[in-house]
Amino acid sequence: MHLSRLFQRSVHMFGDRPALALGSAAALSYAELDLRVRALARWLREDLKLEPGDRVTLAMKNCTEYAEALLAIWHARLCAVPVNNKLHPIEIAYVLENSGSRVCLSHGELHESLCATVKLIPGLQLVDVCGESWRSALAGPAMAVDPVRDGDDEVAWLFYTSGTTGRPKGVMLSHANLAMMALNFSADVLAIDEDDVLLHVAPMSHGGGIYSIPYFLRGGLQVVAPSGGLDEPELFGLLNHYRRASLFAAPTIVGRMVQHAKTLQLAARNECCPGLRCILTGGAPFYVEDIKAAVACFGPRIAQVYGQGETPMTISAIGADHIAAAVTTGDDEMLASVGYPQTTVDIDILDGDGQPVPPGATGEVTVRSPTVMLGYWDNPKATAQTLPNGALRTGDVGLVDARGLLHLKDRSKDVIISGGTNIYPREVEEVLLRHLAVEEVSVIGVPDTEWGESVTAFVVRHADASVDEAALNALCIASIARFKRPKHYVFVPQLPKNPTGKVLKDVLRETFAAIALPTHAQ
Ligand code: AMP
Repeated sequence: MHLSRLFQRSVHMFGDRPALALGSAAALSYAELDLRVRALARWLREDLKLEPGDRVTLAMKNCTEYAEALLAIWHARLCAVPVNNKLHPIEIAYVLENSGSRVCLSHGELHESLCATVKLIPGLQLVDVCGESWRSALAGPAMAVDPVRDGDDEVAWLFYTSGTTGRPKGVMLSHANLAMMALNFSADVLAIDEDDVLLHVAPMSHGGGIYSIPYFLRGGLQVVAPSGGLDEPELFGLLNHYRRASLFAAPTIVGRMVQHAKTLQLAARNECCPGLRCILTGGAPFYVEDIKAAVACFGPRIAQVYGQGETPMTISAIGADHIAAAVTTGDDEMLASVGYPQTTVDIDILDGDGQPVPPGATGEVTVRSPTVMLGYWDNPKATAQTLPNGALRTGDVGLVDARGLLHLKDRSKDVIISGGTNIYPREVEEVLLRHLAVEEVSVIGVPDTEWGESVTAFVVRHADASVDEAALNALCIASIARFKRPKHYVFVPQLPKNPTGKVLKDVLRETFAAIALPTHAQ
């Protein structure tokens, strides 16, 4: 199950089929891509003198070189360390040092600022993928094909968790982990064939990047958006150019796509992005109202996954057909869930003592699956805490309902305990989002001398829309228990988010601590 072996299999099966393209430009075939990949692999091993297992950091925006580098790293039996290109060079330097990377691939402005920041890291070679050494590597001889044996447990992807607090930890994912992720994807999310296209709009340094694996396994085409990120007119252009195109997009990006379609007045299903097969979303809560808006705009082409760096993209999933049917029948319970466990995943809901809770009760989501990481890089203590007995403690609180659907409440540290009762922010957020004037909302607990913690909502209003606390309070009173309704509302122009679109609740807690607010009676 070594990924280089699987890629070589695809070169045999799909040699002259298109494999990789930049925007709508002519694509490289699998055979052409293979030659480039093996030339780069030889350069990494022979010219840059890397040994099997050495780490190569990728600090770059989305580009076709990203896909080539990844396959070359695997062919050369090295380990890829993807970092989000929006990180500060000092944060990237931390990853480079912690992982002991021998090479860092980058380009553009980031390359220039990294040259200044990381030059003191001993033994590190910084390479510009738009520079001469990369070009001459591609012109050089190709490394032989020598099928990897016994390489399933080699670390393929050392992924530093984006996290919302603390220093990131390196998640060690093996070739077998990623191959199993790809099989789950084809079984539970989207079955891929040679006519499928994956548009890279989300950062390739995250789940969107490793979703390339199910595509190259089945002879699909990867297309990198030339802007290197999300540019709505460009994306909609590509969705007109290609057929059967899918993309991974965080829920906030799906929201931006819906807004863009509205400005183009493309809300009718067949008019809107004819080439779109599926928007794959996940990584953060996808609220019921937002799902309905996305299905109204794009039709039955929205699927959702729940995973985390430690079991990438693979805990549960809900396919486009199920989501569309739930919208049609008004099954909001299903829409509020993150679907069914993926094929190779066993989910247990455990209490604080690590014991299974009764059916339907809430506890920590715990995962057993061949997709679960080997452990954290150079951090046995954190590994032992997170993988007791080999099962992954996700830190997410949830329940499995009588229909087998997994419902996520929140990260355990974000659960609000007010007057001794647990309040799950997501439940309050779902209610507030029903108000037409509310664009985004995030609910946190803040210290309260009387109740321990009290519920506080940070609200972003739609442009030109107005709503006040009284209206939001009335909505809450009509929908949820009184003690769950926010005691404080803070209206803000936007929510702080990390580079993958997750709301930074710690920043909200700090923001709240810095302001004095009037309170309502409970
Ligand atoms: P990361 O490891 O940075 O990808 O973050 C993983 C975390 O994001 C999970 O543990 C969840 O808390 C959250 N998450 C991922 N997917 C979903 C989803 N579909 N719905 C709600 N939260 C999600």
